[in-house]
Amino acid sequence: MKKKMGVISKIIILVSILFFIPVVVYLLGYQGFKVRKFNDNIEIFYNEKFTYDEGDICYNSFFKCHKVSVSTKGRVDTSLIGEYTVYYIYKYAGDILTKKQTIKVKENEPPVISVDDNDFNVCHNQKDIKFNVTAYDNYDKDLTDKVKQYIKDGKVYFEVSDSSGNKAIVTKDLTIADQKPIITLNGSYMEFVKLNNIYEDKGANAYDDCEGDLSSQIQKSGIVDTSKAGEYQITYSVSDSVGNKQTAVRKVYVYPESNYNVATGKIIYLTFDDGPSAYTTRLLDILKKYNIKATFFLTNPKGYDSVILREYNEGHTIGLHSNTHDYSQIYRNTDAYFDDLYTIQNKVKEITGYTSTIIRFPGGSSNLVSKSYDGGTKIMSTLAKEVEEKGFKYFDWNISSEDAGGTTSTSQVFTNIVTYLNGNGPYVVLQHDTKNYSIDAVEDVIRYGLAKGYTFMPLSMSSPTIHHHIAN
Ligand SMILES: [Zn+2]
Repeated sequence: MKKKMGVISKIIILVSILFFIPVVVYLLGYQGFKVRKFNDNIEIFYNEKFTYDEGDICYNSFFKCHKVSVSTKGRVDTSLIGEYTVYYIYKYAGDILTKKQTIKVKENEPPVISVDDNDFNVCHNQKDIKFNVTAYDNYDKDLTDKVKQYIKDGKVYFEVSDSSGNKAIVTKDLTIADQKPIITLNGSYMEFVKLNNIYEDKGANAYDDCEGDLSSQIQKSGIVDTSKAGEYQITYSVSDSVGNKQTAVRKVYVYPESNYNVATGKIIYLTFDDGPSAYTTRLLDILKKYNIKATFFLTNPKGYDSVILREYNEGHTIGLHSNTHDYSQIYRNTDAYFDDLYTIQNKVKEITGYTSTIIRFPGGSSNLVSKSYDGGTKIMSTLAKEVEEKGFKYFDWNISSEDAGGTTSTSQVFTNIVTYLNGNGPYVVLQHDTKNYSIDAVEDVIRYGLAKGYTFMPLSMSSPTIHHHIAN
């Protein structure tokens, strides 16, 4: 029995040994590296400090995962964005494991887009709009060239991405700014054409800020009947494609030959003070061309005897203004005034043989300048009476061209005069033939007046009285 047990035990022990030894051997042995944690890909920011990340790798057995030694290969420069590769070399008891790790260095600051704020007014048909835009990135620096621009729903979008994929978008509201076209008349806004002559309209140009030249689309309306004197109007109109309409008007005056001595009931007296001057003969030529008679109120006509004679011979009225035109002298007292007046009256008589009794007070009868010199005697009130008692007739004016101080512009002189030519008159117009720019306006004033049916007449002793209110 004892012997039998011994055999069984031996068998058991033998079987156990045969069975367990490999298990123990296995359990005591190693199964190689075990990767418990390792990041294949790492992203870090530009200029951030990089530290190697070896993860968690050990050398494995049943009882324990043994710590292994690790060395690295490869460098990461975080001051330069990009991809870097680092190798981790793990060693244990002569066994080696190499792991590769990719490190992406990037930055997260989007570029900054700057757009000049000044002009977001665009045309409805504008395709290529240039805005003043710049883009700057902390890493890529200037990205202006890469800015993409597009327009959507009344806004303009500016978009740019940096090399790390950070995107910036700026939007600006657009204003559709389409102005009316501009019409420019060829020639003047006023044209004059003589009765029964041909009127050729010079046309007009139109320019639109968005659509450019629209001249060919100008619609013209209005007619000029050159067989009938008067004022005509030609209207030019044009619209751009979004319906902004513009019109311009030209006045055309068809004027008859001078109707001097054919009184129409609408009378203009052109009067010229302070001459003659070097410009007076040119004025006389203009008046002659239209057979218009005017009135000259003369002042100190030294050296211009022949001009005065011409004025007289050509049918103009020679009026008397003043020999000296010196307020401080003539308005001291009535004697001084009449001394001066008779001096010029005699001079005119010497030259022309004509004794003029048509006068105009220097400064007009309403002048206040006389107050400074007359010692409080209200000299204008006295003179207004006395000149009539002595057989003179004085004339003021009811239209001033403002050519003596008010303006030096010919077109303004013209406007100052014709603005008031809106009734039957009579109108006495004040100009100075010592002012060249004023003489330049005379021809248009004549043609305008003739077209409007006025008769130009010289003043005479029987002309209607045009007096100012005496203020001194
Ligand atoms: Zn004067």
